[in-house]
This record gives sequence, structure tokens and C-alpha cells, in this order.
Amino acid sequence: METTIKSIKSNENIFEANNGMYGDFGGMYVPPHLEEKLIKLADFFQKEILHDDFENEYKYYLEKFVGRPSPLYYARNLSKHVGSKIYLKREDLNHTGSHKINNTIGQILLAHRMGATEVVAETGAGQHGVATATAAALFGIKCKIFMGAKDARRQQMNVNRIKLLGAEVILTENGRATLKDAVDAALGYYVENPDVFYLLGSQVGPHPYPTIVGYFQRIIGKEAKKQIIEAEGRLPDNIFACVGGGSNAIGLFQEFLYDPVNIYAAEGGGEKAEPGKTAATLSIGKPGVFQGTYSYAISDENGDVCPTSSIAAGLDYPGVSPQHSLLKEKQRAKYYAVTDDEAVEAFKILSCLEGIIPAIESSHAVALAMSLLKGQGDKISIVNLSGRGDKDVGRDQLF
Ligand SMILES: *Cc1c(COP(=O)(O)O)cnc(C)c1O
Repeated sequence: METTIKSIKSNENIFEANNGMYGDFGGMYVPPHLEEKLIKLADFFQKEILHDDFENEYKYYLEKFVGRPSPLYYARNLSKHVGSKIYLKREDLNHTGSHKINNTIGQILLAHRMGATEVVAETGAGQHGVATATAAALFGIKCKIFMGAKDARRQQMNVNRIKLLGAEVILTENGRATLKDAVDAALGYYVENPDVFYLLGSQVGPHPYPTIVGYFQRIIGKEAKKQIIEAEGRLPDNIFACVGGGSNAIGLFQEFLYDPVNIYAAEGGGEKAEPGKTAATLSIGKPGVFQGTYSYAISDENGDVCPTSSIAAGLDYPGVSPQHSLLKEKQRAKYYAVTDDEAVEAFKILSCLEGIIPAIESSHAVALAMSLLKGQGDKISIVNLSGRGDKDVGRDQLF
């Protein structure tokens, strides 16, 4: 494992968005009437976050409702097993079970302040659907969740949770009936219904969503940095996260982009890194316009997006965040395709060794850390545990 960066001047901001553009990536590739809506949202967001009362309300719900700060837990047994010091950032302990709630709380405040009467969202693993339905219940706003029928079958418990929270679940059988198809369906509804607020769940889609989602997930890295310095008196050597669309990873990474810290990301490698058998977008994809943004995507010779495959519904997506595309291009972060089998192995190991059952998505990050850190004795690493595995334990594939 090589050391990547020495130091980068922190005032350059070369890894951040400039009006929705991350270098060449990002932007707003949408029809004109949608562009109008998105520009309005971008302006509203930029104004709101400058107000102390917005920030205070956001912080209030993160603390009292979500349960933040989430602990940074020294995984003693896993560390011993691997032969390197590993800390887990415990997003699995958040209310509703993953990092998604950080973003839905932020966006529901925007929706509420904009006077929206209905929110819509897509969901893959169901975690964003649950987090959105939860936030909508909290503010008494009507809520529709679009979900691929295949994902609904493999995440039945989350479908039931969304319904219990008073939201409507709308299944789509289009395409592979997974996350991409849910996004298409939700976007379609959003385009046709002008008063609806689209509560996007990952760092994808047109501007301003990557900026908004990145902003609300930043709390992960802010806390983690403070916590590791309290625990160890220094920055970590390495940080790890899994990447579906890229929101939990960017949440952790942002705070360390200009520090001498190695950044590693685990994509849903599926069965193996071939089109149709993987969801490792940055590992095998190429740049193109997909779902409103210019970013990496897995597409064929004609530029058509390919179906993806991953054991983790939350990673099973052919697009990815434009900011991660930039971080890959600038080689500031390294992206690896972690296979289904490697993730299942890590899922079992973490459960037995630490008494923590991780989400199958998060298990990809654990697997990558386990393989890269073997024998890295005195090195200190943080692995973002993006969610808990309760939603996965009913699946025979994992036993
Ligand atoms: C949704 C989800 C992911 C993937 O989404 P990102 O936007 O890449 O973070 C990862 N882990 C869990 C637990 C999820 O629910």
C-alpha cells in the first residue's frame, strides 16, 4: 500500500464544486422547465444555509432525533485480526439505521421552508425511502417513495417500514427494476408535478443535488476528524467507505481532502468486474451524461447505460457522484471493485468479531480495509460503517 499525497494547499478548493461543476463533471443536463425548478432550489439552498436559524434547526434534529454525534468506535478485535488499528464511524447507530437520515433531515427542512406539500424520493436498499418517509412524517408532509420491484423483494422489511411511516410505495417493473429505474420513475413524477419537492438520496443527479447532499453529509467527516484526534492525537493514515452514488463516502472524505490521508473507496463489484455483472462504476465505467449530470457511468459502445449487478441494493447503480469522478481523475481517492463474495465474508467476520452486524453495502468497505490493511501494524484507519445490517439478515445469500 503506497502513500499517496503529501500535502495540498487547503485554499485551492480544487476538489470542490464551483457552481455545480466539479472540474468537467457535474452540471445540469435537464429540460428547460426542470432547469428552472433546479435553479430555484439552488438559490434557495444557498440562501438558507447562511441563516443561523436553519443551521440551528438542522443541528437540533441531528442531535435530538437522529442521535448524533455517532461514535467513532475502536474495533479492537477486528484490528487484532487484521493486524492494523481500525476505527469504525458508527453511522449504523443513527435513527433509521444509516447515514441517509443526515441528508433527509436537511432536505426536509428545505422542503418545509419552501412550502412544499409533497415530497418524492427514489430508494434502492430502502434506507433512503425509510429515512425520507421518517423525515416527512416528522414535518407532516405527504410522501411518495419510488422503488424497483426487484429491490422491494430483496428489502421487504424496509417496504413495510415505509408504509408504516405513512408514505406510499410505488413499485416499478421497468428495466432491471432496481435503483436506476426508481430514479427514472421518481424524476418523471417530479417533472410532471410542479409543486413536489424531490428529496434525492445520494450525491448524484443534476446540480444542485450533489452540492446539497454533500453539504448535509459533511457532518460524518467533521465528527470523525474531531473524534480521531481526541482518541489518537493525530489524523488517520487511511479512510475507507463504500460508494453507491457516493454520499456516505463523500460525507467522510470531504473533511480530509486536503490532509495527508489516503482515501480508499469500495464499489459494488458484483460477481466480477464485467459489464452486466458489476456495479463498479468508477472502476469500469467512463464519463458521460446520465440522469441529469456529467459523470462516470457504466455504458456500452452506443453510450447506452448497462444494467448493473451487486448483492447490495444500495450499491446497485450505473451512475456515480460527479465529485467522486473528479477525485478519481485527480487520483485523490482510489476506487476498488469489491466482489459480492468478499463483502459477504466481511459481513460475517465483523458480526462475529465485534458484535456489529453491518449493512451489506458497508461490508464492502470493511472488506476493502481488511484486504489493504493486512499487516499495516501501527497505521490508523477509519472505516465508515454507513448502515446496520438488520435489513439484510433475512437473505439466504448471506448465510
Ligand atoms: C444507500 C446506502 C449506501 C450507498 O449510498 P451512498 O450514497 O453511496 O452512500 C451505502 N450504505 C448504506 C447502508 C446505504 O443505505
